[in-house]
Amino acid sequence: MKRTKLVLGLLAILLTVQIVLARIPKPEEGLGFRVGTERKVADMHQILSYFQKLAKASDRILIKEVGKTTMGNPFIVAIITSPENHKNLEKFRQYQQLLADPRKISDKEAEKIISEGKAVVMINCSIHASEIGASQMSMELAYNLATRNDKKTKEILDSVILLLLPMHNPDGIQMEADWYKKNLGSKYEGSQMPWLYHKYVGHDNNRDWYMFTQVESQLTIKVHNAWHPQIILDMHQMGSKGARIFVPPYVDPYEPNIDPILRQEVAMMGTFIATEMTAEGKTGVMHSIWFDAWTPARAYHHYHGGIRILTELASVKLATPITVKFEELDDYTKKPSVKMPLPWKGGKWTLRDIVDYDYCAAKAVLTNAARLRENWLRNFYRIHKKAVTRTNPPFAFVIPAEQRDFSTAIKMMKVLRMAGVEIHQAEESFWADGHQYPEGTYIVYLAQPYGGFAKALLENQDYPDIREYPGGPLKTPYDVVAHTLPLLMGVDVTRVEKTFKAKTELLSKMIKPEGKVEGVENVFGYMWAHNTNDELVALNRLVNKGYKVLWIAEPLEDNGKTYPSGMMIVNNKKGLLDDLQSIVKDLYVRFEGIEAKSNIKAYELKKVRLGLYKSWTASMDEGWTRWVLEQYEFPYQSVYNKDVRRGNLNQDFDVIIFPDLREEAIMNGIPEERIPPEYAGGIGDIGEKNLKEFVQGGGTIITLNSAAEFAMKRFYLTIENSVADVDRKDFFIPGSILKVLNDTTHPIAYGYERDGALFFRRSPIFAVKEGKSVVKYPVHNPLLSGWVTGEKYLYDKGAIVDVPSGKGKIILIGFPVLYRGQAHATFKYLFNSIYYGAAVLGSGHAN
Ligand SMILES: [Zn+2]
Repeated sequence: MKRTKLVLGLLAILLTVQIVLARIPKPEEGLGFRVGTERKVADMHQILSYFQKLAKASDRILIKEVGKTTMGNPFIVAIITSPENHKNLEKFRQYQQLLADPRKISDKEAEKIISEGKAVVMINCSIHASEIGASQMSMELAYNLATRNDKKTKEILDSVILLLLPMHNPDGIQMEADWYKKNLGSKYEGSQMPWLYHKYVGHDNNRDWYMFTQVESQLTIKVHNAWHPQIILDMHQMGSKGARIFVPPYVDPYEPNIDPILRQEVAMMGTFIATEMTAEGKTGVMHSIWFDAWTPARAYHHYHGGIRILTELASVKLATPITVKFEELDDYTKKPSVKMPLPWKGGKWTLRDIVDYDYCAAKAVLTNAARLRENWLRNFYRIHKKAVTRTNPPFAFVIPAEQRDFSTAIKMMKVLRMAGVEIHQAEESFWADGHQYPEGTYIVYLAQPYGGFAKALLENQDYPDIREYPGGPLKTPYDVVAHTLPLLMGVDVTRVEKTFKAKTELLSKMIKPEGKVEGVENVFGYMWAHNTNDELVALNRLVNKGYKVLWIAEPLEDNGKTYPSGMMIVNNKKGLLDDLQSIVKDLYVRFEGIEAKSNIKAYELKKVRLGLYKSWTASMDEGWTRWVLEQYEFPYQSVYNKDVRRGNLNQDFDVIIFPDLREEAIMNGIPEERIPPEYAGGIGDIGEKNLKEFVQGGGTIITLNSAAEFAMKRFYLTIENSVADVDRKDFFIPGSILKVLNDTTHPIAYGYERDGALFFRRSPIFAVKEGKSVVKYPVHNPLLSGWVTGEKYLYDKGAIVDVPSGKGKIILIGFPVLYRGQAHATFKYLFNSIYYGAAVLGSGHAN
């Protein structure tokens, strides 16, 4: 009897185990097709729903919603490890926190943690949503880790905690899947989507890893900072005719603040993946080409103790297979080399191939992490130990509280703090490098866990001289070469070389002081300065409420004080004081009551009917412009090709912005062979004619960066881009910060000082024969941060030109004025241009 019971009991246990396992659904059960099947793609909802089912069925997987995406969708992370580790998840997370900050533990305690802790791996799938393979693969990876019981899988589950982001850009996955399915079977199957795969920033969502402007960046940083992964696998796709997959090592240069241990780890992991893939018979696996490790915009992790392993797979047409003949392949991939000993022979290439390659790479990363668990943890600890015991100069960066734009200084410090950088504030005055700083000064000491991150972003970049061949042009960097936040944001920061002592407090948050309304009795109006972005937001709020606002166009004397041109005045009326009081609660603006009417020249501002040209070429700059306009409270409307073609633009708009687009893209767009007819073409000749009428009739066109070409050519301006035909060997500025000179008497440069700085990339340089150069390059090398070849081409040339035309204006802003939402110091050029574009210069008086 007892025996029967025992047998029955055992059977029951076995059955339960069976039932639990059987309940874990395969991806194809939910999807109705095998992952990677030709012309089939799982969308965001399907992937989300699959992970929810997996998490319910498996005690190895936990799903967390980190937050909502830009478009309000769930942004999830799947935490995958053994059931035993899941029980102690919080303990392992604490271990990571301790290893990341060696000030909190002894070496002996660290060794204990290293022997007990788990390697933490983060896998980020398909941040670029059209590179969709990894998001599809994530389901298969999770399923196998949830169900397999072989020795290798167990080893991974026991030694590794995997943070899997199945969709690093869920909104984009849904958009891409919808677009693909809509066009499936038509001539446009697999065509490029006519809008960005992130609401605002498209492909630049992977250039945001030190500014964290976008929600998805902030959510990822949240996961990262909670767990401090040692290894981050960032899965992408590239063109179709080269290698099948790129893995690190990267090529030179590395940004100098990245620890050498970490650089070796990148190389070790990259070649391990390459080895495993080649051993599994995967061909076309290549390392050590193209991708460098200079910009932190793509590599937050490199400053936080984690390696970023970039993989780039050869693409198909989303899920539609392609065929590449051997002779069509890029030459470099045809022969075996040190970088790629086993070339691909050409042929059919499918989404399933991408899934297989991605899976193989992910498995290799997890295997390496498991096998070398202790090495990963120990080196992670060593990197941070070096960081906190640093003694090399500089010792600190000092940020004065007295700033021209204090609210932006606060924003900059918030960005640093988001990345784990500690900021102190002086409680008494102190001396550093021979200067005295007052109480309240902010200090960033560099001997701290993420001091390298702070240093990289606060110092000026000196990009190394790496040539394509001796005497040849600079080898093209993979991305931009300057990322100095104080210059980009217009914040005053001082580098301090020698050690100093100060009585300080470690800040637990950044508090922005409130603004102020002063002199409230019997005033004619209120005046405020024009120096900061906050001050322009205040302007927007007042104008949008219907208040009359002026920019004084000459210096003003009031009550014994002199105010410079550009100061803003709002006329008093009932309710204004309440509105100002409410504005100063969240904007750092000081309104000052003025007593008398003033008989001076002033620009009368109005609520601008602002248009932003939106082409179907999916311009990232258009997206960034939308984002910045929304952040700074400028109402706008998108202007499409059909609107420009229809004409009568003065009826709806005062000012139209053309974001950074080539003339060809504006005029002709994408041809009908490549995109459905409703999205094909550009503004065309009729659009050009309508825009001319718009300007003749008093409208203003503002062009950003390369869009100047459109205005110069189509409006027959006698302004030339003096580097249009110059060879890269003679002139090359791959994303640098340059000095400029402002004409501060011109409204576009109101609020600026004479010397300014701007970000230059793929930009024109204006040789001006008509109009007014409001911002110019100096007659000496203007390089502040990054790299310049051929500085002489810039001497005395224009960077912003204001050209009166008919009753309207054309304003050429010849650089990325908003630059990925980072160039806070130059935002105001655009903001000013918008108001100036619709303003009237009154010869009367300021009332
Ligand atoms: Zn990519």
